Amino acid sequence: MSEIETLLEVKDLYVNYKSYWYIYKVLNGVSLKISKGEKIGILGESGAGKTTLLKSILGILPPQGRIVKGDILYKGRSLIHDKKYLNEVRRSSIGMIFQDPLASLNPVFTVKEHLLDVLKVVYKDHNYKESDLISIATELLKEVMLPDVERVLNSYPFQLSGGMRQRVVIAMALASAKELLLADEPTTNLDVTIQDQILRLIERLVNEKNLSLILVSHALGLLFRMVNTLYVMYGGEIIEYGDARKILKEPLHPYTKMLLISAPRLTSSKIGEGIKGNPPDYRNPPSGCRFHPRCPFAMDICKKEKPKLIRIGPDHYVACHLYSTSDLEKTGSGI
Ligand code: SF4
Repeated sequence: MSEIETLLEVKDLYVNYKSYWYIYKVLNGVSLKISKGEKIGILGESGAGKTTLLKSILGILPPQGRIVKGDILYKGRSLIHDKKYLNEVRRSSIGMIFQDPLASLNPVFTVKEHLLDVLKVVYKDHNYKESDLISIATELLKEVMLPDVERVLNSYPFQLSGGMRQRVVIAMALASAKELLLADEPTTNLDVTIQDQILRLIERLVNEKNLSLILVSHALGLLFRMVNTLYVMYGGEIIEYGDARKILKEPLHPYTKMLLISAPRLTSSKIGEGIKGNPPDYRNPPSGCRFHPRCPFAMDICKKEKPKLIRIGPDHYVACHLYSTSDLEKTGSGI
C-alpha cells in the first residue's frame, strides 16, 4: 500500500486514563491503516479500547485521557502534533456516528440548531447565509430518509423516536464526513426492528459517497457483509487482523476463535458459553500476552513476552506465541 493511498494511519498508539488514584493503561501499542475507499471493522468485547481508539483519532478523549506515545497521521500529517490540521480534518474530512443518539444530542436544542451548529463550522469559509445552511440541513435530513423534514428540523430530540434520533446523528456526521466515516456501534441503543434499517442506510451512504469507513460493531453478519479488513482488539491491543471474511471464517487467535464461538446463532439451539474470566484490569494489566489469564493454551512465554503481530497468511496477521513466521500460508493450523 503506497503512502499516497493511505488515508489514516494509527502508529503504535498508547493511551492512558488517569483517575485520582490510578493510571489505566488502555491502548497498548495499537497500529492500523485505512486507505481511500477501504472499509475496516473493529471487533472486540466491551472495554477492549475500541471507542478510545476512535476518540483518539478525532482528538476527543475525555480530559482524563492522554496519548502517551505514538502518532495518528491523516494523509501523512500528524493529527496529534498539529491541532490546526486536526480541526481542519474534523471540519471537512472525518465524521463520527456515536453509540448513543440521545447522549449525542443536547435536549434543549432543536434538530435545526444542532445541524446549524455543525454546518457553521463546516462551511465557515463559505460566507453562507443562515437560509443557505438550512437548505443544506434539509438536504442532509432527506439523505438519511427522514420523513416530514420540516417537522423534524423544529423538533427537540425527545420528540423523536430512537431511530429518528440516530438518523439525525448520521446526518450531522455526514456534514463533515467527506472522506472518512467513523461509526461506533451505531445501532447498540436501538430497537432490534430498526437496527437493520440504520445499518443499511449507513451502508448505502458509504457506498454512494465513496467514503472510507471504520465500523466498530459486534454484529458479525454486518462486518462480514460490509468491511474488507477486520481488526480484532483485546485488552487495548490489536491481536489479529486481515481479510475480514477469512478471519470470520478461519480465525487463528484463541480469543477470536472463542469470541466467534460464543456469538449467538440463529441456526443453533445452543447458547454460546461466553469466554471465561474477566477482561483485563487496566490499572495493572497482565504481563506478556494480556489474554493469558483467560487463554486455555497459555504457556510460560505468554506470561513474560508480549507476542508480536506476525504475518501468517497473504492477508492475515496474528499476535500469539502459538504461531511463528514458519506457519506462513498454513492458515488454519496451529491449535
Ligand atoms: Fe494464548 Fe499465549 Fe496466544 Fe496469548 S500468546 S493467546 S496466552 S497462546
